[in-house]
Amino acid sequence: MQQLKPARLPTRKSLQYENCRILGPDGKPLATCGIKKVRWYLDRQLAEVVEEAPHIAIKLKFTPRGSGHADDQYYLSDKDNRCVVCGQEGEYLRHSIVPHCYRQHFPPAMKSHLSHDVVLLCVGCHQICNMLDQRKMAELGQRYGAPLEDEARRFKVDRQLAQVRSAGKALASRSAAGKIPAARVQQLRQVILCHFGVTEWRAELANLALAVEPKRQDESWESHASVVVAAIVSGGRQQQQQQQQAAGADQQQQDVQMDAALGEFIRDWRRHFLAAMQPKFLPPFWSVDARVKNSSGTDMPPPCPKP
Ligand SMILES: [Zn+2]
Repeated sequence: MQQLKPARLPTRKSLQYENCRILGPDGKPLATCGIKKVRWYLDRQLAEVVEEAPHIAIKLKFTPRGSGHADDQYYLSDKDNRCVVCGQEGEYLRHSIVPHCYRQHFPPAMKSHLSHDVVLLCVGCHQICNMLDQRKMAELGQRYGAPLEDEARRFKVDRQLAQVRSAGKALASRSAAGKIPAARVQQLRQVILCHFGVTEWRAELANLALAVEPKRQDESWESHASVVVAAIVSGGRQQQQQQQQAAGADQQQQDVQMDAALGEFIRDWRRHFLAAMQPKFLPPFWSVDARVKNSSGTDMPPPCPKP
């Protein structure tokens, strides 16, 4: 594989997983979490410490509204602070298996990143993974008529404003001072005077012209990710409509169909991650078929006791 230049990326040295445990009042495990969450419960005397080592465990003094992740072994098991691909410990980055650009267009119940789909990668593996993700995104772009190159067309350049800025650049430049013929200086000043609607030249106008932004966002532009997600959702809807005609489905069933289409999109990214990176150190119970929605909208049991 091609040798990549190490990029300067902000890496995490602090622990991502602190593997603290929250137990229900009956002693059954509800979730693993960080020390901050544990402190939150202890400070409010909502829990007591039942185990201190190797990782702290607390027992809630109230019955939480949801069951947390009591039904999901992935969220109950300890996770290692190392790259899930090569096992390297030390510095790592959080990597979203489903790229954030797509997830931000998901419906609310699927929008928040499930911790299942955020894994740790070392800098080297992260760079390779990003490159392979880009390749997959380009394929999706081709399939759904949303080429990645279109991202460059997001902005239009206003030629007139570009001229104003270029005139400002020439007149504000110290190295060019004195080298521009007088007639040209007059021309450049005229461009700037005209833009600002003033008649008298002042030196600071050159700097103001330099700050003019000629790029304008194209109102009709749609991002690659929004087009892809919309196509997947509408694909789900079309499938649903066909079934609806056959069976008379209601609104709830329509949502189910849309969720199913997005769920398959998420699983497809999980499969891509496995095939592309062949991770050897995924946390126990990590699975392509794991759920795709947060049951409670959060990865934690609700912090408040029942009213
Ligand atoms: Zn690695």
